[in-house]
Amino acid sequence: MTIEVRTGERVDVVDVTSRVEGAVPDETRHGICTVYVPHTTAGVVVNEREERLLSDVENALERLVPRGEGYEHDAIDDNADAHLRAMLLGESVTVPIVDGNLALGTWQSILFVECDGPRTRRIRVATVPR
Ligand code: ZN
Repeated sequence: MTIEVRTGERVDVVDVTSRVEGAVPDETRHGICTVYVPHTTAGVVVNEREERLLSDVENALERLVPRGEGYEHDAIDDNADAHLRAMLLGESVTVPIVDGNLALGTWQSILFVECDGPRTRRIRVATVPR
C-alpha cells in the first residue's frame, strides 16, 4: 500500500502514524509492519511528536549537516545536505502489530522527515502476518 504525503517546507516533519495504522489490513492481527520511504532526500523515524522537539530535529539536522558546505553533489542539484540528512535518518522503520494495532510505545509516533521539500512524497507500507 502507498501513502501520499505532502510536505510544506524544505525540512518538514509529518506524523503519519494514523495513516500507517489505516494501511494495516484488518486480517493482520499479529505480525510486523514496515514503513519504507522510496526517496533519497527524505527519511522516516519513530519518535515523539512534540512540537518543540520537532523544531529541535530540524535545527539538529541543520547543525549536523549544514546546507551548502561545498559538497560535490551540490554541483548537480544543490541538495547534498538533504541526501546526507536522509542517510542519517534512514529509509525505513518496522513496528510490531499486536491485536491488529501498531504496538508503538506511549510517546512513539511514526514521523516522515522531509529534507528537500516542499514536495509530494510516497511512503510504502508492507505488512507481514505472523
Ligand atoms: Zn540530489
